Amino acid sequence: MDQTKSMTWKQEIENTLIKRIETCKKCDLYKTRTKAVPGTGYLDADVMFVGEGPGKNEDLTGEPFVGQAGKVLDKLLEDIGLSRKQIFIGNTVKCRPPSNRTPSTSEMEACKPYLISQIELIQPTVIVVLGSAALTSLFGSGQSISRARGKSMIVNGICYFPTYHPAAALYRRSTLELIMEDFSKLKEIVQNRKRKNEN
Ligand code: SF4
Repeated sequence: MDQTKSMTWKQEIENTLIKRIETCKKCDLYKTRTKAVPGTGYLDADVMFVGEGPGKNEDLTGEPFVGQAGKVLDKLLEDIGLSRKQIFIGNTVKCRPPSNRTPSTSEMEACKPYLISQIELIQPTVIVVLGSAALTSLFGSGQSISRARGKSMIVNGICYFPTYHPAAALYRRSTLELIMEDFSKLKEIVQNRKRKNEN
């Protein structure tokens, strides 16, 4: 069977986007990347997650959330009845910032068009904003993840729901408890948005 013919239009656009990201030199992060990490998941997902940027394991594999933070995310998803097959995961920057530093404002700005293209392609009803870099990239500077977390914001019909980045839970049990609290709210939001769309 001709695989090209069976490919959906969304896959074709995503593949083009992936190629552009993998060869991108729009900011200096390309100089130190092993592999770009464009993002992965279900292209018709109702729920999209946006993290900060690739870490060491992600840079080596080209896949998002494959390290310890990924294990935390998988458990949080499982607890609310979701799996990676049902969601899409992208990042604020697609190339690893050296030593896992926070991406700079100019790096986030350079990479943002890719994230916006992914949002436009997937058209999720809920976007989970993981951590302060993702919050800043999507909503501008001056945002505080500790103030924004656990509260949904509807923008252009999409429900944005910020919470801490799962990596933050690796070092503090109290942060994990706050993320778990937010995920139980997220479960309700996802169910409500689904019901609304079905009516
Ligand atoms: S981080 Fe984004 S903008 Fe910078 S080189 Fe990588 S893909 Fe391009």
